[in-house]
Amino acid sequence: MSILVINAGSSSLKFGLFDAGTCAPLGSGQIDWTSDPRHAELVIRPEAGGHTRFQLDVSDHHAAVGHAVRALAQTNLLSTGPAPAIAAVGHRVVHGGTQFRESVVINARVKDQIAKLVELAPLHNPPALEAIGAAEAAWPGVPQVVAFDTAFFADLPPSAYVYPVPYAWYTDWGIRRFGFHGTSHAYCTSQAALLLGKPATNLRLVICHLGNGCSAAAVRGGVAIATTMGFTPMEGLMMGTRAGSVDPGVLLHVQRQRGLSAEQVDEALNRDSGLLGVSGVASDFRQVEAAAKQGNERAALALEIYAARVRAAVGALAVTLGGVDALVFTAGVGENSASLRSAVCKGLECLGLRLDAQRNAECRPDADLATADSPGRVLAVHTREELLIAREVRRLVLSPHGG
Ligand code: AMP
Repeated sequence: MSILVINAGSSSLKFGLFDAGTCAPLGSGQIDWTSDPRHAELVIRPEAGGHTRFQLDVSDHHAAVGHAVRALAQTNLLSTGPAPAIAAVGHRVVHGGTQFRESVVINARVKDQIAKLVELAPLHNPPALEAIGAAEAAWPGVPQVVAFDTAFFADLPPSAYVYPVPYAWYTDWGIRRFGFHGTSHAYCTSQAALLLGKPATNLRLVICHLGNGCSAAAVRGGVAIATTMGFTPMEGLMMGTRAGSVDPGVLLHVQRQRGLSAEQVDEALNRDSGLLGVSGVASDFRQVEAAAKQGNERAALALEIYAARVRAAVGALAVTLGGVDALVFTAGVGENSASLRSAVCKGLECLGLRLDAQRNAECRPDADLATADSPGRVLAVHTREELLIAREVRRLVLSPHGG
């Protein structure tokens, strides 16, 4: 028996398959319909190695997630050996608002509440809801669980989540900071504890999730106490196409003086900013790095801003923690770019974080990259959000004692 974990986005669906008893990974894959929904590609990667590609017609773009889930149900997800029976399904949902402080088993009330949260996450919650509906139809009677990206931040103190704006915005409109990437930060917390050989309850961690989206979090005793993302996943660090934090006065200025509409500002800050906006080259970190190496000055500037903002966030979060036992780099950029890690760590020696140049250059996550005499450790951790969700599924519906 296996656990299927589905991570549905607006233009792709990732999945992971895990042994229901041990949560050992069996395979993973993804369906991408970014360019052409009629020629979407399903890639299945069994854990044993290799991969299989299928062309799929997910046709109607609006129903693409449903098509993708049905395609999964009709395919042997290991592509080799007997098809695994699905014992339970787990879903990633980005926004759990203040209602969901932890993962839950899906029922009608839960779906209703997730639907109500669409107002807060218009791009992210609808595909997850669609995936849940399609999975219920494809695997009737099989228990389903949702894990929320915001849940890891349920214990942020009010000083970390209340914005210094008119208080009624918070009380009447629910405007507050939530934090995102929680499944990744939660996984990295448990993995850092494992690597350091200490319980998470004894650790002060600063975790930098640096992928297409970027966020950093301060975690004390296994609990997140501060993070850079806020009401939406736009706040904080510079990202691939998202600006991160900018002076709100700039947004008022471009609307009043340059005539941009709210939609145009939204588009600019979400899709035309960040690495892409500054470099003019790409949102993809590798491409920006390559352009900078070839002498592109805007690409080099984009990388400088990116690193400076991560470094400043690490400093602020480390001080919030009162010191840091380990700095953790994760996600595409954090796991793979030695030059970014090196740029971020320049200046962090004052926090007791000394990066070992050779270990950093030779890094294969998971690894400790700090010098032997560094008081704080510097870790690179390969994030496994789907595995964390599979563990939640097992805890909630498959463990003999019900968690
Ligand atoms: P993610 O959202 O975690 O998939 O991360 C995507 C980002 O990771 C993209 O900006 C990629 O360019 C970046 N990335 C992936 N591999 C590398 C690499 N070897 N070096 C630098 N950046 C990378």
